[in-house]
Amino acid sequence: MHVYDALVIGAGQAGLSASYHLTRLGIDHVLLDANPGPGGAWQHRWDSLSMDDVHGVADLPQAPAPGRSQDRANVVVPDWFGRYEAERGLPVVRPVRVDRVTSDGDLLVVRAADRSWRTRTLVNATGTWTQPFVPYYPGAETFLGEQLHTVDYPGPAHFDGRRVLVVGGGASAVQFIGELAPRTDVLWVTRREPLWRDHFDEQAGRDAISLVQQRVREGLPPASVVGVTGLALRPQEQEAARLGAYDRRRPMFARIEPDGVRWADGAFERVDVILWATGFRPAVSHLAPLHLRSEHGGIALLPGGTDVQTSTTAALDPRVQLVGYGPSASTIGGNRAGRAAALAVRRYLAGHGDRLS
Ligand code: FAD
Repeated sequence: MHVYDALVIGAGQAGLSASYHLTRLGIDHVLLDANPGPGGAWQHRWDSLSMDDVHGVADLPQAPAPGRSQDRANVVVPDWFGRYEAERGLPVVRPVRVDRVTSDGDLLVVRAADRSWRTRTLVNATGTWTQPFVPYYPGAETFLGEQLHTVDYPGPAHFDGRRVLVVGGGASAVQFIGELAPRTDVLWVTRREPLWRDHFDEQAGRDAISLVQQRVREGLPPASVVGVTGLALRPQEQEAARLGAYDRRRPMFARIEPDGVRWADGAFERVDVILWATGFRPAVSHLAPLHLRSEHGGIALLPGGTDVQTSTTAALDPRVQLVGYGPSASTIGGNRAGRAAALAVRRYLAGHGDRLS
C-alpha cells in the first residue's frame, strides 16, 4: 500500500492552507474531507448569514478572500474554496469521514469505514462544527417546546410568533438576537456577564490569541478565540439594541420545565423555544487511539516562538499537527497554522531520514 509523507484531514480554511504549503514544499500528501462538497463548515452556515454578517474571512495563501456583500456566506465561501482546490490541483478526496487514526510502528494508519491510508505524518484540520456543545440542565428532557443548537438555526422566520430563549454569550447569540428581536419575543441568558468592546485593535487580537495559546500549551481544553475577544454590536444589531433586547439579559436558569425555565430564586419564564448558542468542541475523537490528551483534558501543543507564532505540533506525538485548533481556530489562525504545520512536517520528515518526493 502507498505510504504518504503527509495526510490532511479536513478541507476547511486550515486544511486547504496546509495542503497548499505541503504542495509548495513538494510533500506527497492526500487531503480527506467528510463533506460532500468544498466549503468546510461554511457550507453549513445558516442561509441568512451574509458576507456582510461574517466577522471576516481571511485570505487563503495566494488567494484574496471574497469581499463583503449581501450574498450568502454558505454559497460564496464554498465557491471560493472549490475554485481554490481546483486551480491548485489540491489532492482532495471526498466524501471520506475518518473514524480513527492508529499508530503502526513509525507510520500512522487513517481509517474510514473499510478504507485505510498509511502516512508518515498527519495534519488534523477537522474544525469544530461537527461537535456542537449543549450544556445539561436538569429537566431538559421534559421540555415540550423546541430546542435547537446553532448548527440547526433555520433563519429568523421559523421563530415568528414564538417566545425564544437564546442561551450563550458569544457572537452567534448576539447575531441571533439581532435577527429575532425585531420580529418576535426574545429572552437572553448567559453564564457570565458578556464582555462588550467598542474598540478592537491588533493588540487586543494578539492578547486573545496568546491567552488561548497558553491554555493549549498547558494541555487545557482550548477556549474559543472569538470567546475571548469580546462582543460588539454591528449595524445589523442596532434595531434589537434599540428594543432593549441586549439589556434584558439574565444569568443562567437553574432548571428546565415543560413550559419554560426556572431560576434558583423561583422566578419562571414561559418559553416556546430554547436556542442553544453554546458553542462547539474540537472534532478530534478520531485521534483518541493516539492518546494525545494531557491529564487536563486538552491536546497539548508544543510552545511556538513568539506570541502570534503558532505551534501546531502535538506535544505527545511529533508526527501529528493540529491546525484550526485552539489559538488557530479562526480563519486567519487556520491560514497561518497551515503553513506552520507544513514546515513542521518537512522538519519531521527531514529528521527521520525520509526522502521527500
Ligand atoms: P472547518 O471549516 O470546520 O472545516 C473542517 C473540515 O473538516 C470540514 O470540511 C469537515 O467536514 C471536515 N471534517 C471534520 N471531521 C472530519 C473527519 N472525521 N473526517 C474527515 N473530515 C472531517 N472565523 C473567522 O475567522 N471569521 C468568521 O467570521 C467566523 N464566523 C464563524 C461563525 C460561526 C457560526 C462559527 C461556528 C465559527 C466562525 N468562525 C469564524 C470560526 C471559523 O469558522 C473557524 O475557525 C474556521 O473557519 C474553521 O476552519 P477550519 O478549517 O478549522 O474548520
